[in-house]
Order: sequence, then structure tokens, then C-alpha cells
Amino acid sequence: AHEAAMAARSADDLRSPICCILGHVDTGKTKLLDKIRQTNVQEGEAGGITQQIGATYFPVDAIKQKTAVVNRDNSFEFKVPGLLVIDTPGHESFSNLRSRGSSLCNIAILVVDIMHGLEPQTLESMKLLRDRKTPFIVALNKIDRLYGWKKVENNGFQESLALQNKGVQNEFAKRLEDTKVAFAEQGFNSELYYENKSMAKFVSLVPTSAHTGEGIPDMLKLILQLTQERMVGSLMYLSEVQCTVLEVKAIEGFGMTIDVILSNGVLREGDKICLCGVDGAITTNVRALLTPAPLKELRLKSAYVHNKEVKAALGVKISAPGLEGAIAGSRLMVIGPDDDQSDIEDEIESDLGALFSRVEKSGRGVTVQASTLGSLEALLDFLKSSKIPVANVGIGPVFKRDVMNCGTMLEKNKEYAVMLCFDVKIDKEAQAYADDQGIKIFTADIIYHLFDAFTKHMSIIAEKRKEESKLLAVFPCVLSPVAVFNKTGPIIVGVDVVEGNLRMHTPIAAVKQNSVTGLKEIVNIGRVTGIERDHKQLQNCKKGQPSVAVKIEMGSHQPTYGRHLEEKDTLYSLISRASIDCLKEFYRSDVSNDEWLLIKKLKPLFDIP
Ligand code: GDP
Repeated sequence: AHEAAMAARSADDLRSPICCILGHVDTGKTKLLDKIRQTNVQEGEAGGITQQIGATYFPVDAIKQKTAVVNRDNSFEFKVPGLLVIDTPGHESFSNLRSRGSSLCNIAILVVDIMHGLEPQTLESMKLLRDRKTPFIVALNKIDRLYGWKKVENNGFQESLALQNKGVQNEFAKRLEDTKVAFAEQGFNSELYYENKSMAKFVSLVPTSAHTGEGIPDMLKLILQLTQERMVGSLMYLSEVQCTVLEVKAIEGFGMTIDVILSNGVLREGDKICLCGVDGAITTNVRALLTPAPLKELRLKSAYVHNKEVKAALGVKISAPGLEGAIAGSRLMVIGPDDDQSDIEDEIESDLGALFSRVEKSGRGVTVQASTLGSLEALLDFLKSSKIPVANVGIGPVFKRDVMNCGTMLEKNKEYAVMLCFDVKIDKEAQAYADDQGIKIFTADIIYHLFDAFTKHMSIIAEKRKEESKLLAVFPCVLSPVAVFNKTGPIIVGVDVVEGNLRMHTPIAAVKQNSVTGLKEIVNIGRVTGIERDHKQLQNCKKGQPSVAVKIEMGSHQPTYGRHLEEKDTLYSLISRASIDCLKEFYRSDVSNDEWLLIKKLKPLFDIP
């Protein structure tokens, strides 16, 4: 694996940095990518932009052309051979391009809609970028939507801004200021890029329009500038193979293939490679390294070109035997002649192990299933910061066995009988089983949507339990009867409340001595269904207030005054272990100190330890 590492460092050994585009949905990520890919007709073919597997390669000549309007004096020096931009914008690919906690994506463009400011996925993206320490710039996109904007296609931003009327300039200034404040609230200092004195201290904001192309030359120049300033050792050399699986796909004529981003080093046909699969490490040999055929050669039989070797950075499709079950987001390592195969397999498997070992030791928590290693990691990080415990994790589509696994939670912690599924398909049978068992499956391809759904689910459950608990909760009271108006079915007695607070629905009991056995006997006499004084219905009666008439009802076999009860018997609220626990869980703030003391006093009467 190290063979290329120590090669002499010449210009041929330079590799291109990798760039990802992140941001909230609909900010214009795809449109920006399309716009920078577009060849500029007036200035002829922008030399050699190539469509790769999962990425687009911009050789430095193409970038020079595209940035010419903002580099008229040629003062900006280009030092990298080109730029590889990942084609699928968003969290997914960024999260997957990772290696031991660091990012293989060297640089990122965070797209913000200048009309909307920071949105939920903008914040998620910022968190990812911060965690991975990835330098980034911010494209403040859709400037053409500022009211009254006059466009000059593909112009440099500063020139375009100077052409606008005062009203547009003012609106721009205001939105820029708002954006800076919003970034500061997230702990990032930001500056309009041409006023930024230190790219290490301030995030650069570059206004763009993916529709008119304005600001895009500035953005491209800026991204190279940031790369060159922030790259370790100032330039990037080819060295040890670093490679990540971005997609696993079956292709006619090739069987199962993997689309990888080679971020460093060299891959050759026939190389022995190792990557992560659902059943452990997969070790196989590269049968073919495929890149898309150039457009003009599409009439050729195959859509792919076979390569003997490929150099970083690029996107390439690998065909090899035994790739079924390969996991997207997995690292790919080359096993050289001097390498120990089992060491490398262990290392590959440890990526998966590290994630699977992050489950709750108590075994109580939700089940999480994601499409790739990277998205699983991002989701676990997010759930951790949201303090949602995770008991099971999985990769790939959800099958019945995954739901069954989650179902063990029905007995342990019903509210955790929930699957949070990120960007994965749910098998029909699995869904049916879940519905049948009462296991909730939430799916989303945006992390915070999952979080919202889960939070809502939890609050509904809490509400339901509080509702159910109403009949279980018993506030303590002690009643001294003064008159019996009706002996039974229902019992109606006049009482003084001598302790606590008598409330509607309270279960009432008398404590008597059995006349035959002499043992203590708790006589349950029913629940309070009416509290009345001077013909007025009351909800409660507190200790010391004037007497009330209390109606006590019981479904059947209610004890009878004169037979099971006597007027002199003191009446108590019937408390139990469960009723006390319920008060503690749902009504703690409603129970006064005196009431807690009274509960304590009543406990021995009802033999509650
Ligand atoms: P993504 O979800 O971030 O990839 O966003 P898209 O690239 O799909 O763009 C979302 C919508 O915004 C589309 O209707 C685009 O045409 C529109 N859009 C993107 N960029 C711009 C822009 O610079 N100006 C204007 N006016 N609309 C834009």
C-alpha cells in the first residue's frame, strides 16, 4: 500500500483536491454544479472537463478559462493540476468521504439561498464540516432574485454589483449583514470574500447566481485559493491509496460493481483490494477499472473505457468478483505483496465494528438503519447530541428480521420500539410486520426530519401516558364522616376533610379490623364521583374547609353502611405503590410538601413499604 508513497515528488505526482457541495434543499446545489460544468461557448471548449463516475474533473486549464474574468491580470497563480467535484451534492457523499474521523473531501462549498438565510440542513452541514475540520466557502446563491437585479451572464460578482442601482445594492448589503450575524450565532466569523483578510479565521462568502452564472468565476477562483492556502504542505502529492466506496450497483455485463472515489494514490487492474461488506471484509481482485466513454465515442459498443491504471483524484467504477453485500461509505484498501491480508481485513472490519459498538449498553433505545457507513455515522452522531439512545444499528434495506430485532423493545421500553431509517427502502413484509406489532418505522432522507418525527412520537406517547395516568394518580386525603345520606349504590356521606385535599375521581377506602380474624382489612368503597356543598358541585375540598357531601360509586358489590361500614370509620384515599410512582412521574410539581408528608404517613396503613 505504501509503494507510491515515497516516489519522487515531481509535477506529475501532484493530485487534485476533492470538493463537495453541501447545503439545504433547493438552495441551488445541483444548478450550481450544472453551471460550472457547462462549457462556455463564447470562449470555446473549456479544455478537458471530464465526466467521471460520481464526479466531474476540472483540469486547471478549464478552471483558468472559467475564472479569466476575475483574473484579468493573471496575478492568481494556479498550483494544483485540477479539481475533482463530487456529483451528488449533500450530506450523503460528504459523510461517506471519510477516513478515521477525518475527511477525504479536502474542501467544500456550502450553498445558502441569499433570500432564505441559514436553514436546518445548512446547520447540519456546518456541523459536519466543523466535525471533519473541512475548510469551506459559502456560496450566497440566487443573487439574481434580489429585486431589480440586472444580469450580465457569467460576470465577476464585483463588476456586476457595481452595475446595480442603489436599491439593489442596499438590499444586498442588508442580506449580507443578516447572513454574517446568522453565521456568528453558529460560531463562525464570516466576511464577504474580497474583504476577507484571513481565510484561516474567516469563512468567505461569495455571492452567486446559478441562473446567470454571475459570481461563479469568483467562486471557482476562491475554492482554488482556499485549497492552496489551507492544504497541508501547500501542495497535494500522490501517496498511499485512499479510496472510498460511494455506491454499490449491479451493471449489465459486469455484475455487481462499486463506484469509488480514489482520493489519493494509484489503482491498477489486478490489484488485490479489501473493503467492507455486510458479512465482514471482502477481499477480491480488480477485474476492470472503468471510466465513462467520452461523449463523442458513445457510438462505441461499451459506455465504459477500461483503464490499466488510474491516479487520484478521480471517480472510477470497479468491477470485481464477490462485491455483493459491499457497503457504501466503506474504505477500500489495496493489499500489496508485503502486506498482511488479515491485518488489513481486521482494519476494514473495525470501521463497521466501531459504529456497531456505539449502541446503548443497557440495551434500551431506538433502532437505526442507514444506507451507508457515512450516513450511519452522521445519524449516530446526531442522535447522540440529541440524547436519543440507540440499541440496534443496521446498514441497508429494512427486512423483517431487523423489525423483529427492534420488536424486543416492545417489552423493555415501548416508546423505543421505533426504527429511524435514513435513506433506505423498507421491505413490504417488514412494514406489514411492523404495523401488526405496533412498531413505528420512520423514514427520511434528511436527518432532522427523522429527529422531528421521533420527538413528536415521544411527546404523543408522554401525553397518552399522562392521560392514562389520570385514573392512577391518587392525591392523599383523610375524611371524617359526619352523616350518611345514602348507605350504598352510591354511597353519599357528609365529610370533613381532616388531611390533604379531596379531589374528584379519588378512590376511597376504610381500614377496619375483621371481626372474626382480628386482622386489618382494607375496604375499597369506590371512587368519588361528586363533591357538593350547598347544592353546588365542587372539583375538590381542602383540609379545614366546611363539610361537603361526597358521592362515592363502585361498579357492583359496593360495601354498605350499617353492614360493612360504620359512620365513625375514617375514610382514606386509597393509595398504592403504583399511584405514588405515577404522582412522582407525571405530577411531581402538582404535589405539595404537605401532601408528600401525608403520603408518607398513609403508607404503613396500606402496607406500602
Ligand atoms: P438543490 O436542491 O440545492 O440541488 O437545488 P436545485 O439546484 O435543484 O435548485 C432548486 C431550485 O432553485 C430550482 O428551481 C432552481 O432553478 C432554482 N435556482 C437554483 N439556483 C438559482 C439561482 O441562482 N437563481 C434563481 N433565481 N433560482 C435558482
